[in-house]
Amino acid sequence: MRQSKLFTKTRREAPADEVAKNAQLLVRAGYIHKEMAGVYSYLPFGKKVLEKIEQVVREEMDAIGGQEIRMATLHPSENWKQTGAWDNVDVLFKLQSRTEKEYAIGQSEEEIVTPIAREYVQSYKDLPVAIYQIGQKYRDELRAKSGIMRGREFTMKDMYSFHETQEDFDRFYTLAKESYLKIYERLGLVAKATEASGGAFTKKLSYEFMVLTDAGEDDILYCDSCSYCVNAEISTQKKDDECTRCNKGKLARAKASEVGNIFDLGTKYANDFSFTYKDKEGKDQQPIMGCFGIGISRLMGVIVETFGDDKGLVWPESVAPFSVHLVSLPAGRQGSGIDEVCKAADALYDDLVQAGIEVLYDDRDARAGEKFAESDLLGIPQRIVVGKDAVATGTFEVVSRATGDVAKKSRAEILGK
Ligand SMILES: [Zn+2]
Repeated sequence: MRQSKLFTKTRREAPADEVAKNAQLLVRAGYIHKEMAGVYSYLPFGKKVLEKIEQVVREEMDAIGGQEIRMATLHPSENWKQTGAWDNVDVLFKLQSRTEKEYAIGQSEEEIVTPIAREYVQSYKDLPVAIYQIGQKYRDELRAKSGIMRGREFTMKDMYSFHETQEDFDRFYTLAKESYLKIYERLGLVAKATEASGGAFTKKLSYEFMVLTDAGEDDILYCDSCSYCVNAEISTQKKDDECTRCNKGKLARAKASEVGNIFDLGTKYANDFSFTYKDKEGKDQQPIMGCFGIGISRLMGVIVETFGDDKGLVWPESVAPFSVHLVSLPAGRQGSGIDEVCKAADALYDDLVQAGIEVLYDDRDARAGEKFAESDLLGIPQRIVVGKDAVATGTFEVVSRATGDVAKKSRAEILGK
């Protein structure tokens, strides 16, 4: 894409009404636009990043047998009354129609997915099944100050699974846990699974996935030898440094952010919606249900908080809006001939596009310092500079946004030929 055609612009100053680093950088770089506290629109680059995170999550959910659907956001209040959540979930947005009929706006989808599954799951042969969606969710937060990390409107992946037995649920849980850890790794993050209480959803144990980041709101303790990891607040550890699970490893304390959770919902929703299937003997049984969430827009915020520096955003390759930021430094268009630098940059741009490399091309007429500062703010992994030197020598300066490392590369090396 040519930057001269881009309708968004970057800004030098952080917006005065944002305290969270993720919102400050994303607004400055033109990735998101604030509508009100906790509600943002995603502009071209922000939408690209969000969709890349979605795609990583989608691939891993499909790999463990998840089937993607799109559920309604506007829900009949009857479903929420049936589960008791209409009166018990304080963050639930409620709407009244001009007909005085009431609706809920989805903050979770158990109330919708359970009746859907009930319609199609009739026999034990139809189980297990895992259904998921990636879509918008709404929470009536009293305060929303963490940018896109805790919004009133946000994007979630939520999967719901149904099983014949607890053993089968546990098997699927292990599979999903591995798949979650793979997702975070693909996004360049280090994540741990901690045990937590089920909160509003269930009295059973649940699991939270925590990304290690200095910007995190939680303190966790994790073992350097086994997979033990616990929220420091609920830790029953007597001593702070020895792992009581493996009696071998040492515990380390770290700041972390929650980026996913898994709940064992048992038969609560099957009960609420009279959902039964016929077992092998032809008897009615209730399926065991699980809920598997990942906050997609929240993950984007965590990535910004984790990697962003004082110059701006720093995207891991897997979610960057572009792989390459091609920056031309034309000497000006005085005289009669077309600037040689522009010609060389145009040609390299065409080659990159041909090679299937996602490239943002800064083809504008601006000063080098201005272009580089803006390039740093946008956070694209590699910057390729085309100036007079490149035209003279045939080699281009390639700068890594994450490390600042500079390499000289020929056109063939850049194109991977
Ligand atoms: Zn241990």
